Amino acid sequence: MVFGVLEKARSLANDLEIDQKGLNHKYSAWRNRQGRRQMKLQNIRIVMVGTTHPGNIGAAARAMHNMSIGQLTLVDPQCPIGEIAYARASGANVILDNRETCADLRQAIADCNLVIATSARRRSLAWPELDPGELVEKLFAMDDSSHAALVFGREHSGLNNEELQLCNQMVCIPTNPDFSSLNLASAIQVLCYEIYRCQSTLTEAAPRETDEQDLPASSGEIEGYFEHLQKSLELTGFLNPRQPGLIMQRLRRLYLRSEMTRNEINILRGMLTAIEKRRG
Ligand code: SAH
Repeated sequence: MVFGVLEKARSLANDLEIDQKGLNHKYSAWRNRQGRRQMKLQNIRIVMVGTTHPGNIGAAARAMHNMSIGQLTLVDPQCPIGEIAYARASGANVILDNRETCADLRQAIADCNLVIATSARRRSLAWPELDPGELVEKLFAMDDSSHAALVFGREHSGLNNEELQLCNQMVCIPTNPDFSSLNLASAIQVLCYEIYRCQSTLTEAAPRETDEQDLPASSGEIEGYFEHLQKSLELTGFLNPRQPGLIMQRLRRLYLRSEMTRNEINILRGMLTAIEKRRG
């Protein structure tokens, strides 16, 4: 009987060890495949959109500092960042002091190469969805010169569709399906922890020079492409500006999913320009 229990414990310990090794192996495999330094925690930005409660901003700052994630951007905050926020930050003042504030989401993410929305719920126009593990995988498969943003919505209504459509993908923290909405700062805590936990299991890979043009395009460059695309589609009559329907939304989803490089954006824009010239 005792022997049976011991055997079971040993086999469990073995499985756990294999799991941990498997995890380490998986993460170093991404990096080796990339052959260059992986994304740094300093290049990960937490973006809070339209937050109404200063306590959530303070608690988010605390959660970020605990997990060594330093860049906080507030988009159109709906509350003062004063005593309440600093009290809830519990000493993570550096995050609040260095925060950036932007009028809209576009501006906050313009230089980011990967933009991830967060949401507790599915949307009418389904956006490509990741779980937190896949998010971490994506982040650490990126180059150390890349920037990423995790975008968090309003306490009462989350992100609106227009904001969601600026993002490459959406991450959902698995929860009780009947009670899926986490407190805003708790959601930030969970994702920052996932990132921190996994990055500490990684080992350094040798850096490699990557051609600038092969790096993922920034959100600003991609938005420039979408404007160009819409203009061209209207010019050719494919898109009726008075009745655009969901075409641009669906195209955004398609392109954002494919995570275009600068080079690819240049090719696509070159194609549009050639078509426009042909039409005179
Ligand atoms: N009623 C809102 C809930 C907003 S909760 C809605 O339906 O969207 C505030 C924010 O916390 C969300 O916008 C999201 O950024 C984050 N959040 C809450 N629960 C989450 C979950 N399960 N997964 C990922 N993000 C979550």
